[in-house]
Amino acid sequence: MRCPFCRHPDCRVIDSREVDDGKATRRRRSCAGCGRRFTTVEEAVLTVVKRSGVTEPFSREKVVRGVRRACQGRPVGEDALQQLAHRVEETVRASGSAEIPSHEVGLAILGPLKELDEVAYLRFASVYRSFSSIEDFEKEIADLRGRLPGKQPSRRVGSCGSE
Ligand SMILES: [Zn+2]
Repeated sequence: MRCPFCRHPDCRVIDSREVDDGKATRRRRSCAGCGRRFTTVEEAVLTVVKRSGVTEPFSREKVVRGVRRACQGRPVGEDALQQLAHRVEETVRASGSAEIPSHEVGLAILGPLKELDEVAYLRFASVYRSFSSIEDFEKEIADLRGRLPGKQPSRRVGSCGSE
């Protein structure tokens, strides 16, 4: 970290605090050369590692785009999408790791999306979990039904994949 005034390479951190819910750190620094003080804000970088090994910075906008596609024709507003992306970011950041496998981002999307819109959830899950048969959908739908309060099925219909 070079001093912005005299380009001196050494500086002392005199104060450090987390801002934006810990997503960034604001540091107050004092230059060892000229003694002037300045502030730096360092954002905690979150990297998504794809299955191919390619990495890219986590992007809330990208989450929104993926979910928006699943929400086509559904009564889901832009605000709800932004909120969902915010929750996803909080979830993946909460792991404390700087590198997140892309499938964990997908997992973090599934939970809030299920609450938001079940049809969009099924669409997203079918791609994300690569549903290959109608049974995969049936199982997921049975699971969704089972979660609805007051609508617990009294008996299980069918015999596929008992969990
Ligand atoms: Zn300086």
